[in-house]
Formats: sequence, C-alpha cells, structure tokens
Amino acid sequence: MHVRRRGKRIVLAGGGHAHLYSLARTGELIRRGFDVTLVDRSPYLYYSGMATGVISGAYAPVEHRIHIRRLVEAGGGRFVEGQIAEIRTEDREFVLEDGQTVPYDVASVCLGSEVAWSGLVENGAGALRVKPVVNTLEIRRRLLALGKERLPRILVVGGGAAGCEVAANTLALLGQLGIEGELTIAQGGESLLPDAPGRAQREILGFLRERGAKVLTSTLLTRIGDGVAWTSDGHKIPCDLPVLAVGVSPPDIFRDSRLPTDDSGALQLDRHLRSIGDERLFGGGDCVSFRGKSLPRLGVFAVRQGPVIFHNLRASLTGSPLHEYKPQKRYLYVLNLGDGTGLAVYGRFSWRGRLSWWLKHRIDERFVSEHSR
Ligand SMILES: Cc1cc2nc3c(=O)[nH]c(=O)nc-3n(C[C@H](O)[C@H](O)[C@H](O)COP(=O)(O)OP(=O)(O)OC[C@H]3O[C@@H](n4cnc5c(N)ncnc54)[C@H](O)[C@@H]3O)c2cc1C
Repeated sequence: MHVRRRGKRIVLAGGGHAHLYSLARTGELIRRGFDVTLVDRSPYLYYSGMATGVISGAYAPVEHRIHIRRLVEAGGGRFVEGQIAEIRTEDREFVLEDGQTVPYDVASVCLGSEVAWSGLVENGAGALRVKPVVNTLEIRRRLLALGKERLPRILVVGGGAAGCEVAANTLALLGQLGIEGELTIAQGGESLLPDAPGRAQREILGFLRERGAKVLTSTLLTRIGDGVAWTSDGHKIPCDLPVLAVGVSPPDIFRDSRLPTDDSGALQLDRHLRSIGDERLFGGGDCVSFRGKSLPRLGVFAVRQGPVIFHNLRASLTGSPLHEYKPQKRYLYVLNLGDGTGLAVYGRFSWRGRLSWWLKHRIDERFVSEHSR
C-alpha cells in the first residue's frame, strides 16, 4: 500500500492581515509538499479599513469580510475553528480552549489586539468596544434600535483614529435617520488624533464640532455606569451607548505561554519577524513587537509583513536564508468621515475631501476583493 508521506507542518495561528498573503498562496505551499493549517476562532476576517463605514451604511455588513476559511481550503489547506489558549513551544503545538492540540514544524501568529474594559465599565452599562472590528455592526444595530425609542446619547471614549471614525460615522447615520441625538467624544490627551500633524487635528476637531459633537479633550473618564459616565473631576456625561475606542493591547496568550514579550504583552520578534524565544515561531500584526519597539498598530504594517512571513516560513524549513522585515517609515492613513469625504494623513501632510475618501475606498475595496475570489 502506498502511504502518502506527510509534509512539514506550517500552522498559521489567526487569519489576521499579516497572514492573508500566505493564505492566498496556500496552493503554492501545498505544491511544494508542505501541510498548511489555519486556526482561527472565526471563518471570516473583518477588514478594519471598511469597518466604521458599516456604521454609516457606506458598506453592507458582509462587504468588508474576507472568507479566510475558503482561502486556505481552496489552496488545499486545512481550517481548524477554535480559540487558541496556549502555545507550547517545547512540544511545538497550539492548545485550543476545547483541549484540542494543533502541532507544527513551523508556525506564525497573527492574533490581533483587544480593547480592554480597563475596569471603567460597570456591569449593565451596555458598552461596546471597537475591537473586534465586527462590533461596528452591533453599534449600527444599537443606534437604529435606540433611534426608534428616543434621541440617543452616544459617548465615544478615545479620540484616536478609530474613535474619530466611529464618531464621524455615527453622526452620519443620525443625519440619515433625521435624528438629532447627542454625541460626545472624550479624549484623555490634549487633542484628537494625537499622532497626526496639527492641521489634521484641527480639521477633525472642526469637522466633528460643526456636526454637533461635543468634544472633550484632557478628559479622563473614571466610570461608566448604566446611562451615565463620570469624569475624574466629577462631571457626569449622560449616555445610552458608550463605545470604547481606547488603546489596543495584545492578547495575554504570549505571557501565559511564557514567551518573551514586551511590557504590553506583545510577542518579541527579531529582524526576521521570528520570536526571540523560539526559532520556529514567526509573527506579525498588532500582537507583536519588532526588535524591542512597538510599531503602529495598523493594518498597513501587518499587510507589509505578509510576504516576509510567507518567505521565512518556507525558508526556515528548507534551510534557506531568511528575509529581513523593514518597516515603512511613512504610511498613508485615511479616515472615513461618513459623509463621502475622507481625511488623509501622510507624514506631516494631511488633506480632506472627496478624493481622499475615493482613494481609501478604492484601496480597501480592491484589497478585500483580491482576497475574496
Ligand atoms: C475601528 C477601527 C478602524 C481601523 N481602521 C484602520 C485602517 O483604516 N487602516 C489601517 O491600517 N488600520 C486600521 N485599524 C487597525 C487595524 O484594525 C489593525 O491594525 C489590524 O486589524 C491588525 O491586524 P492583525 O493582522 O494584527 O489582526 P486582526 O486583523 O485583528 O486578525 C486577528 C485574527 O486572529 C483571530 N484570533 C484572535 N485571537 C484568537 C485566538 N485566541 N484564537 C484563534 N483566533 C484568534 C481573529 O479571529 C482574527 O481573525 C483600525 C482599527 C479599528 C479598531
């Protein structure tokens, strides 16, 4: 009897943005004799670039999702649905919450990041977080339901790019529904979009204020309860729908698995995107730190890591030289403002208008459709 020899096992843990390049090339890996397995808790990846557009209705709920299960299976790989709980590098296996184990010869992790509840939210406050990004659909559902009952009061906590986009798209939805509502955006720092140039900060502040948002900067929230939030100086903000868009952090899994991490719990990688604790473990995206530094937690960084991960997974099994990852120095970031315009930021430059939105829409739509064949 002819027994098919098993190929070396490549496991992709999490079908995040940094793994899409490899997932789309599963067939090539299989043809070269490797076994490929993707483990994810969901068969879909929700593409963050289009996620806030779901709130305003610019995109339909399914328009921004990529069927990662189909990607891996179409190439002849295997999909395992489950929540990864631990990485046992000594045994070279992932342990899932249901006790299942997935062994590997070489693996890569791309498990994204989370918005922590940070002890701010009391039970029953009905808050939503912007991560996982599929939650933007729930924000829209809740706004539609609230709008039928009363004038909704929305509180967005966090004035970074995600918080500003959520606020802008919420205002757009209220406008479409013809509902006044109240929207407050609270930011701990002195300005919205703290990492953007001053012009972009002024632009977004003006944009949100013109549309009726209350913008509170240098405002720390201490507690969010049912229908109300409290600031550190004792002020109350009434709110029916609190949305947390405060900083993201990696999952605890790397610390729990006793792998070398930075202070935030991100897996520490070397210049080849390889864990400094295990030469058979690579990684990318929001859950890693690169050569002792955190990179911006943005999909554009994860996507650029994709080809390096793809090459290095194979190279580490065949003994070929590994590729180095060189993060981009400048990157384009376009905020979807929900009204058919975008705010583009590139290094020191920023510009707002329809062209910015059109550019973002083209880039995002093309990316999703390329991975949806
Ligand atoms: C509202 C919002 C808008 C954004 N817009 C942009 C934008 O326009 N441009 C941009 O560049 N960045 C944007 N970002 C940032 C972007 O979302 C992240 O940088 C990007 O998603 C990181 O990708 P990733 O590959 O690290 O993880 P993700 O894309 O989040 O993927 C992680 C994957 O791992 C899976 N997973 C996680 N944990 C487990 C587990 N324990 N077991 C099994 N599977 C698991 C998840 O199901 C998911 O499929 C935005 C973020 C937010 C919150």
